[in-house]
Amino acid sequence: MINKAQRISNWRGENHVNFCAVCGCHPGQDNLIQDKNPSSGANRGRLCTDCITLLRLSKESPRILANMIVYLEDFDIRLEID
Ligand SMILES: [Zn+2]
Repeated sequence: MINKAQRISNWRGENHVNFCAVCGCHPGQDNLIQDKNPSSGANRGRLCTDCITLLRLSKESPRILANMIVYLEDFDIRLEID
């Protein structure tokens, strides 16, 4: 099982740098955005435009994002990321 330190390393793309840390798409190196913690300014992962937008629109709220997952699952929307 992967631990938190390994997950953070993966989110930051320390083992890979060419795809979005959240959805795994390959938008090209120039289209990945370095996400930062809005409070501390610390680097987080490199994300595609869609994932950055989703994060900002959700107000970075785990509660909103978790509710979104339940919402999708309750309406039988498959959660596949290509
Ligand atoms: Zn993405």
